[in-house]
Amino acid sequence: MDTAKAVANSDEASLNQEAIKVEDLHKSFGQLEVLKGVSLTACKGDVVAIIGGSGSGKSTMLRCINFLETPSSGKITIGGELVEMHADGSPSNRRQIERIRTRLAMVFQQFNLWTHRSLLENVIEVPVHVLKVPKSQAIVRAHELLERVGLGDKADTYPAYLSGGQQQRAAIARALAVDPSVMLFDEPTSALDPELVGEVLTVIRDLAAEGRTMLLVTHEMKFAREVANHVVYLYEGRIEEQGPPAEVFGNPKSDRLKQFLSSVA
Ligand code: ADP
Ligand code: MG
Repeated sequence: MDTAKAVANSDEASLNQEAIKVEDLHKSFGQLEVLKGVSLTACKGDVVAIIGGSGSGKSTMLRCINFLETPSSGKITIGGELVEMHADGSPSNRRQIERIRTRLAMVFQQFNLWTHRSLLENVIEVPVHVLKVPKSQAIVRAHELLERVGLGDKADTYPAYLSGGQQQRAAIARALAVDPSVMLFDEPTSALDPELVGEVLTVIRDLAAEGRTMLLVTHEMKFAREVANHVVYLYEGRIEEQGPPAEVFGNPKSDRLKQFLSSVA
């Protein structure tokens, strides 16, 4: 193999390994600059935990990555594909963002299930109506996914009849239904009664163990330490410190991080 080709191939290999790359991301709401230049990379199979105080920009960051918010500037590359940043509403930009969104799946603090639909209907909605998967096939898959999160007998139940933990597990099944390349979790357990947290963490832990790529905003420090292979501490819209969990939790450098960790302990 000649050198140029070898280089091209190794570039390709490194691109394939990068599930998500965020470069110098900025986001303002009017005068308020919430993200002040955030950069991070998650390779395939990485579990990146994002920690930080309330208002530090964690949700805004995830929402920008998913284009639920339009970033003010910066670059976002998903699976090697650079996403056009200034969402100008042009059809090609809209199509790209819609396509990118189907590769990411977000799980919200408040579950966000469709309340007037059964769990099965919730799980098949996007595969059938957006991804155009044949309905019968989507239904088979939905049953498998509900089974997986321990809700095999609840397919026909409406969200209102379920506990918060069950609703969140259903939301995870729904997220999995698009076979996402990256899963985004925004404090998935913080709206739950304490006794229901464990069952949701168990599902997330299993997904991490099977090599799912995820960005996980969480205030469960013990859990972050256990499942993440990289931890990012956000402070007022900037990454104040990041590194492997043993370093970030066991040997924090920044005084702000030390203070944060002692406040949540
Ligand atoms: P975190 O998730 O870390 O608690 P957020 O990303 O939700 O923080 O919010 C960061 C800051 O951005 C907060 O000051 C919040 O009030 C502000 N913010 C978030 N979304 C909006 C919005 N849509 N319009 C105006 N301000 C917003
Ligand atoms: Mg938040």
